[in-house]
Amino acid sequence: MSEIHGLAVHAAGAQLLPFKYEPGDLKPDEVEVKISHCGVCHSDVHLINNDWGMSRFPFIPGHEIVGTVVGTGSDVKNLKAGVRVGIGWQADSCGVCEWCRQGDEHLCAKSQPTCVGRHGGYADRIRVNSRFAIPVPEVLDSENVAPLLCGGITVYSPLRNHDVRPSSRVGVIGIGGLGHIGLQFARAFGAEVTAFSSSKDKEDEAKAMGAHHFVNTRDTGALRKVAGSFDFLLSTVSADQDWQGYVNALRPKGTLCVVGVPPSAIALQAFPLIGGQRAVCGSPTGSPRDLHEMLDVAARHNVKAITERFAMAKANDAVAKVKKSQVRYRAVLAN
Ligand code: NAP
Ligand code: ZN
Repeated sequence: MSEIHGLAVHAAGAQLLPFKYEPGDLKPDEVEVKISHCGVCHSDVHLINNDWGMSRFPFIPGHEIVGTVVGTGSDVKNLKAGVRVGIGWQADSCGVCEWCRQGDEHLCAKSQPTCVGRHGGYADRIRVNSRFAIPVPEVLDSENVAPLLCGGITVYSPLRNHDVRPSSRVGVIGIGGLGHIGLQFARAFGAEVTAFSSSKDKEDEAKAMGAHHFVNTRDTGALRKVAGSFDFLLSTVSADQDWQGYVNALRPKGTLCVVGVPPSAIALQAFPLIGGQRAVCGSPTGSPRDLHEMLDVAARHNVKAITERFAMAKANDAVAKVKKSQVRYRAVLAN
């Protein structure tokens, strides 16, 4: 097959530049996908800046991909040319370890992220292991579904795996790309939902997305007023927060789950954790099994990303706007 064309970053913090690579022979377990849309996740910004020290330059970012299968390797039985698929953070795993065998491929020690050590979705095509190309239900629009492939699964998995239900009081912290989908899924799970935001002008939109309540985190004493109120708090913020205030906002047996990646360590007092039997945890994107289920739930409960579309060639503009927290609520690049 021919060269793949995209936009790559060559050094930490640099602009994206036109880039091409020769993908070689299609491996037996791979599919090749012609990309129509790719979301701009804040993790792409972290990778572009090498905030996590794991970026391998040059690389093409992008891991919220929707496109059409155009080629299948000789061993691929689950997909054929013409099928519309979504691809998220993960492009491959070993397939044989205990985690892969039980359907938790996202926990595989040999997991291959889509755009770390590989080239991602700010491009015309991509290849991944066919297990990580998930068919997209027909009713979902490609532009609105692309952000679900990372942003959506990252909020869906913890809500599901921590057993959020109609009796649950849930708070979503940070109403950006992940958070605005988190409000919708938390509502679909039947919970009483609170949006925590540092942008008071997001209140009306947050309520339209499913929040019953809105807390402006810039108000002094805002967290003290909701002490002891929540069963499950999901933080999607990439900045340091009043973590102790959020732990104190949990009810007994409540959980604070961190999916956003703040720059500093999270320091907490032991007694509020011990006394109320509270927990703090993290959660990575999610397994292919959860991706299939999440897309199905999104289709049936009308969960979709609110997007701002950019032409693929304008990816630098999209990244700049994400860096400034000016996108409402997810930038999506379109080919
Ligand atoms: P985003 O679209 O930029 O949204 C982040 C939101 O956090 C902002 O909209 C803002 O919401 C809030 N925020 C509050 N204070 C902020 C500050 N000082 N700087 C920036 N934002 C601030 O980002 P995203 O794509 O949702 O990603 C959020 C985080 O999740 C990133 O760290 C990303 O790397 C991480 N992530 C993790 C996983 C995982 O597997 N765990 C997967 C995907 C992404 P308000 O205006 O409402 O305050
Ligand atoms: Zn992401």
